[in-house]
Amino acid sequence: MSTAIAVLNAGSSSVKFSVFVESGAELRLQVRGQIEGLFTRPRFVAKAADGSLMAEKDWGDSQSLGHDGALDHLIEFLRERGGGLTLAGVGHRVVHGGLEYAQPVRVDAQVLTALEKYVPLAPLHQPHNLAPIRRLLERSPGLPQVACFDTAFHRTNSELAQMFGLPHAMFEQGVRRYGFHGLSYEYIASVLPSHSPRAASGRTIVLHLGNGASMCALHGGRSVASTMGFTAVDGLMMGTRTGNLDPGVLLYLIDQRGMDARAIEKLIYNQSGLLGVSGVSSDMRTLLDSPEPRARLAVDLYCYRIRRELGSLAAVLGGVDAVVFTAGIGENSPLIRARVLDDAAWLGVERDADANDAGGPQLTKASSRVLGLVLPTNEELMIAEHTRSVIRMH
Ligand code: ADP
Repeated sequence: MSTAIAVLNAGSSSVKFSVFVESGAELRLQVRGQIEGLFTRPRFVAKAADGSLMAEKDWGDSQSLGHDGALDHLIEFLRERGGGLTLAGVGHRVVHGGLEYAQPVRVDAQVLTALEKYVPLAPLHQPHNLAPIRRLLERSPGLPQVACFDTAFHRTNSELAQMFGLPHAMFEQGVRRYGFHGLSYEYIASVLPSHSPRAASGRTIVLHLGNGASMCALHGGRSVASTMGFTAVDGLMMGTRTGNLDPGVLLYLIDQRGMDARAIEKLIYNQSGLLGVSGVSSDMRTLLDSPEPRARLAVDLYCYRIRRELGSLAAVLGGVDAVVFTAGIGENSPLIRARVLDDAAWLGVERDADANDAGGPQLTKASSRVLGLVLPTNEELMIAEHTRSVIRMH
């Protein structure tokens, strides 16, 4: 029998999962899939590591399947189709670990209660992340569960890098820059040594450009600063999120347009970014294919915001040895990479056009002072590795 680690990433309307099997020191992906459309039109799909379909199910217009039902279905699937796997533990992606959790943690009822304290800090994500943990604690109390946090990797940031210019008492009370996408940055930092010792030990800016997007300044593989702040709406412009925004705009919208907190939340998280500017789509592929002038404007603003933040992180690091692209847009769009690399020419970046078009991993010429790389991220593997080592420690 093989020992396996399951990884769950539960969002507001979906539960993504993957299963890794121990193969010597390595963890090998065995199954991945998701149940999406919770509460509306739930659909389950599971695929083997080679992409072949293992199972699927469509519940039709059933609005009754929520997170608990999804998890029960997943457990059934693994029991029936797991092929003799023994589950050693389950790792969860949890958005917020606050100040307390700078490392992954084994979750029991007490830790779960502590993590619930962070719901007000991430109301759109934290409750959904915690739902399957609670369900599994009830159903399988003996099964080890480990929470891995998006914020944890940034706890190495200096106090200065975490502060807002607010009264200091608020900083003490937790109103500070936490940073997110930490599991992605941690994974990239973990593979950097095998690609470039200089990038691993030096000053590297990683661009995680997915639907959510942020950038992180690494020094010696440790996070020094990032573009996301108190919440994951700060920093770069994203698929539907504004990125950084003068708080005065929000006051204006409240005072003059009568918007309340929920309307503002919808505006800055769901109706802005690439979608809001273009009026066409939040999806970069669609925008790059669109003839609409405002689709082009949205892409221009996207790149302009990256250019500004890149300069800001370069200043924090006092120079740059490498830039690394990752996530959906970073990994798959030579066009956006080309624009970002060319915008950074002033830092000593010399793009290698053929290498960039061919998908790297090296994107820059041998003569380039700054190394450009594209590396696929793997947050699930990072969670599986953390889960294995936390379980082993107990
Ligand atoms: P999430 O943050 O939801 O995990 P992803 O990392 O999958 O998102 O990134 C999704 C984004 O990647 C979308 O904007 C999508 O259009 C973009 N993307 C994927 N493939 C390409 C491509 N070939 N060219 C441009 N953009 C792409």
